[in-house]
Amino acid sequence: MRRRPPLSNVTETSAGTVLRDGAFGNATGLICRECGTTQELGPHYACLECFGPLEIAYDFPAVTREQIEAGPANIWRYKALLPVPDDIESSPNTEPGFTRLLEAHNLGRELGVDKLWVKDDSTNPTNSFKDRVVACALSAAVEFGSKVFACPSTGNLANAVAAAGARAGIKTVVFIPSNLETPKQVNSAIFTESLVAVEGNYDDVNKLASEIAGEEDGWAFVNVNVRPFYAEGSKTLGYEIAEQLGWRLPDQVVIPVASGSQLTKVDKSFQELIKLGLVEDKPYKIYGAQAEGCGPVATAFKAGVDAIRPVKPDTIAKSLAIGNPADGIYVLDIARRTGGAVEEVTDDQIRDGIVLLARTEGIFTETAGGTTVAVLKKLVETGQLDTSLETVVINTGHGLKTLDAISDRVGPVATIAPTYDAFAAADIV
Ligand SMILES: *Cc1c(COP(=O)(O)O)cnc(C)c1O
Ligand SMILES: [Zn+2]
Repeated sequence: MRRRPPLSNVTETSAGTVLRDGAFGNATGLICRECGTTQELGPHYACLECFGPLEIAYDFPAVTREQIEAGPANIWRYKALLPVPDDIESSPNTEPGFTRLLEAHNLGRELGVDKLWVKDDSTNPTNSFKDRVVACALSAAVEFGSKVFACPSTGNLANAVAAAGARAGIKTVVFIPSNLETPKQVNSAIFTESLVAVEGNYDDVNKLASEIAGEEDGWAFVNVNVRPFYAEGSKTLGYEIAEQLGWRLPDQVVIPVASGSQLTKVDKSFQELIKLGLVEDKPYKIYGAQAEGCGPVATAFKAGVDAIRPVKPDTIAKSLAIGNPADGIYVLDIARRTGGAVEEVTDDQIRDGIVLLARTEGIFTETAGGTTVAVLKKLVETGQLDTSLETVVINTGHGLKTLDAISDRVGPVATIAPTYDAFAAADIV
């Protein structure tokens, strides 16, 4: 992978990585989410003291709404709040983000929610929110001079890594569970020569990726060794929701949970906007959505316990099928702190959710979105969500990638001869 030319000066870290000054914008270091120990920026993901997960620390300058609004209609309008260089727009990437925030009157009426919006991330370059996180990870990998851009994936991440690598002209290797939906396999293989199907579930694939990252030099696994950089990309979902609501926070957000990274970063984004004075400080509730066939966080939430017991996934929501979610405990914290919840739904309810969103709003979501819509419905029905408050539900992926999940449920209402008599006899309307 070709490294970017120096901005002006370079700094060598103690680990020997040479970094351009300003390579990570306003980011100042990596900080442990457990013990708060800091270390210098680099391709690291675990605390040297306690092995806890690392995240990015910043020293933000004053940032104004006008500066952001003057930026491009993609995630780089928020570059001052991300670990990317000021010249990020000149690097080839897929330019994800600034997706539609649609008022969902019909779905709201159907569910009895007064003010409802759908944040539709299915319109990103590879049709899921993963293009956001991958764009940030790619920037970091380029700065680190990585040779290979890689990931273990439940599908959408592999699509996004393979496409971003193709556009940036760098080698990609993506690993998936071998039982993945055909459209998701094709959506990766079209961009990369190195799609590797692993006999096992996502947690097995993830373990293999960690081993390879430990053995091989110069591999940037987006969600393993560059995970702190990757994760920051999800903040842009929260920034956009606030900006598109007219620079204010919603009262409630419903977010699907796989590893839990996205949910934790939407919360982080709201906190940052408040601290920077870009929105008014006010309470908000964050809800997590899982499938019953892989609901370890929902189970812990309902049991009122802190420990998450890993499960063996068995659900049609394959993009959410992470049995041992890395950010699960932080999701629990956020749901409890904000007064939200983590709920789970059955595969049949997920299918119903897909059809409901399509028939009410003209949005075709994948199984993850079906899960989120179905959880919203369940939260309303069980009285866990206040229907008078402004609510945003996030659609993270596109239904064309999970056709099999609903191909039995929808299809022609009749097959008729090409005559008016046959049409009339079929009594369709
Ligand atoms: C990966 C993914 C998620 C969840 O992401 P996490 O950050 O791992 O919780 C949600 N929806 C879709 C469509 C995904 O691909
Ligand atoms: Zn630590």
